[in-house]
Amino acid sequence: MSTYTVPDGPKALRETLSLAQTALFKTDGLYSEIKNHADRLQRLIDECERKRPTGFDGTHGDRHTPECGCEAGLVVEDGRDGRRL
Ligand SMILES: [Zn+2]
Repeated sequence: MSTYTVPDGPKALRETLSLAQTALFKTDGLYSEIKNHADRLQRLIDECERKRPTGFDGTHGDRHTPECGCEAGLVVEDGRDGRRL
């Protein structure tokens, strides 16, 4: 397990990683190597999803977490709105 600190929020990072994953499958190369890179990107995408969950329609809605990057997420983190963390 590793910890990374990047200036990008989970929404933007997920969009970039998804785009890279799609582009990866359009490149020439050994399928097993491409699959390994795509799987690694998917794990990063999954981590973005954990930080900023989305529903079946792809929207974040009110699924805030302390790490989602929304102002409402910060309120959840502080517990000021009375919700459980
Ligand atoms: Zn949020």
